[in-house]
Amino acid sequence: MGTFKAIRIDKAEKGTTAALTQFDEADLMDGDVTIRVEWSTLNYKDGLAITGKAPVVRRFPMIAGVDLAGTVEQSSHPQWKAGDKVVCNGWGLGETHLGAYAEKARVKGDWLVRLPDTISTRDAMAIGTAGYTAMLAVMALEKQGLTPKDGPIVVTGAAGGVGSVAIAVLAKLGFHVIASTGRMSETDYLKGLGAAEVIDRNELSGPAKPLAKERWAGGIDSVGSTTLANILSMTKYRGAVAACGLAAGMDLPSSVAPFILRGVCLLGIDSVMCPIELRKAAWSRLASDLDSRKLTEITHEIDLDGVFEAAVKILAGQVRGRIVVKIL
Ligand code: NDP
Repeated sequence: MGTFKAIRIDKAEKGTTAALTQFDEADLMDGDVTIRVEWSTLNYKDGLAITGKAPVVRRFPMIAGVDLAGTVEQSSHPQWKAGDKVVCNGWGLGETHLGAYAEKARVKGDWLVRLPDTISTRDAMAIGTAGYTAMLAVMALEKQGLTPKDGPIVVTGAAGGVGSVAIAVLAKLGFHVIASTGRMSETDYLKGLGAAEVIDRNELSGPAKPLAKERWAGGIDSVGSTTLANILSMTKYRGAVAACGLAAGMDLPSSVAPFILRGVCLLGIDSVMCPIELRKAAWSRLASDLDSRKLTEITHEIDLDGVFEAAVKILAGQVRGRIVVKIL
C-alpha cells in the first residue's frame, strides 16, 4: 500500500487546518469499493469545511470533499467491478467519512450510482451535489403536480450552483423561469441558461408580509431566511416551493398564512441521505433534461491547489455556476 495526494483537515487549537498532503492508503476507512477519483467539485459546504467557518467536519483527520466521480479500482460488492464509472454524492463524505479531494476513496458500494453513458466523470462533477440537488427540487415540484401551464417558477441564488442548474433544467422542461440574483451584471449569463426574467434579489430580502401579490406557481430556493419567506408569501394558490439552501440564513421568518389560506406547500430537499432509488432517478433525469452545452458554459476547472482560494470565494458569493476539481 502506498500514499496518495489528498486535502487533509486536522483539528487545531483554534478551529481546523486544511492542507494538501500525502495520505496513507492504509488509513482509508472501511468500505467494500475502492475508487480511483478522477474529478471532484466545490460546493458551498466544501467551502465551509475547508475554511472551518462551520463545523461540517465531524471526524479528524478528515479528507475534505463531499462529491466524487471516478472509476472502480477494487470491489467486493456484488453490484460493482473494476472499471465501472461511478458517482458518489454526500452520505457523509468529507464530514464523517474520508472524502473526495483525494486520488483514492473507499466507500460503501450501496452509496454509488452508476453514471449514465452520456455523463462523463467530469460532467458528473460539473453537475455535482449542487446540480443533483437542483434536479431533486425540480422532481419534487413535478411530484406536487406543477407543470409549465401553472405559471412561472422563481429560482433564488440564481447565479450559484444549485440556481444555475435549476434554471437550465426548468427552461428545458418548458417552464417560465424568473431568476433572482444579487448580481444583475450576470443577467446575460442567466438568460443564456434559459431564464425568461431576471429580478434583483433585494426585491425578496426584506421582511415578508404574511401574504403578498401572487407572482409565481412555485420556487426553488437556495437562500432561506426572509427570501424564502417572501417567496412563500408570493406563491399562487396551491403552488409549491422547494427549499434546498441557507445561503442567507437558516431562519424562516414566515407565517402559516401561505399554507392555510393559499394551500401552498413547502417541500424540503435533502441530498445527503437521499434514498438510492431517488438518486438514480435524479441522475437519469439529469442525463436527459440538462443540456450538456449549458453545463459546459457554467463550469470552470481548478486543481487541488486551487481549492483553498475557491473555498473563500464560494462563501463570499463570488463563484458563478459550477467548479470542477481535477484530481488525476
Ligand atoms: P453557491 O455559493 O454556488 O450559490 C449560492 C448563491 O446564493 C450565490 O451564488 C448567490 O447567488 C446567493 N447568495 C449568496 N449569499 C446570499 C445572501 N446573503 N443573500 C441572498 N442570496 C445569497 O452555493 P450552492 O448553489 O452550491 O448551494 C446553495 C445553497 O444550497 C447553500 O446554502 C448550500 O448549503 C445548499 N445546498 C443544500 C443541499 C441540500 O441537500 N439541501 C445540497 C447542495 C447545496 P446570486 O449571486 O445569484 O444572488
